[in-house]
Amino acid sequence: MTVVKSESLNLEGFTFEESWQEKKKRAGRIVEVLMKTHPREKLLIGDPYRTLIHCIISQRMRDEVTYRVWEGLFEKYRDIETIAKTPVEEMRDFLRKRGVGLWKTKGEWIVKASRIILEEYNGKVPDDINELMKLPGIGRKCANIVLAYGFGRQAIPVDTHVNRISKRLGLAPPRVQPEKVEEYLMELLPRDKWIYVNHAMVDHGKTICRPVGPKCGECPLRELCPYAKGLVNEADLKGNRRR
Ligand code: SF4
Repeated sequence: MTVVKSESLNLEGFTFEESWQEKKKRAGRIVEVLMKTHPREKLLIGDPYRTLIHCIISQRMRDEVTYRVWEGLFEKYRDIETIAKTPVEEMRDFLRKRGVGLWKTKGEWIVKASRIILEEYNGKVPDDINELMKLPGIGRKCANIVLAYGFGRQAIPVDTHVNRISKRLGLAPPRVQPEKVEEYLMELLPRDKWIYVNHAMVDHGKTICRPVGPKCGECPLRELCPYAKGLVNEADLKGNRRR
């Protein structure tokens, strides 16, 4: 896990004024409200391998379709050994017939990642972000998803919802890349809350802080949100710039 140093982050790029301490305090209150508003009795902590395959399938896919395909895949192939032995073409065909986008690439990733885990990691998914990111199809977001939801580690996967909401809430500057958003969140939020951030923001992003037409009027975070106060706007959020 990367150790984040606050010196690597600064307040430059934010569209409103707030000290780092004020931001940190506000971030703590935001996560408390989010945890109350989007509670989850039990976080999905369980099988790192299945979480990893789920993440590969899910890229640019709707949740319902992903879940159906993922369930079907494990009904048919059962375990990592069977998947690793499956010809890439067969896996591609399986995905294509079920309407999975990028089926060619994903079919190859699923089989190859399984072979690598078996051959190079003794069949155990590595629990290290850098090792995870060496696997085909696993970028930083997926690696963090595996750590958080597969291993139950404190990690903050930054997907499209977390990226957008963090910026609307002024917890990261509007135009930074998702990796940088992760760093800001890690620095602003207590470590024992990291694991809640993704699932709470994903739920919040699907129901209230939607990509288009966020329902600020009924949002429990409106008092804490610079977007609701007009201090961050959609024009600020357009496009990610490398910083
Ligand atoms: S107040 Fe609006 S922009 Fe802010 S978190 Fe809520 S829905 Fe999103």
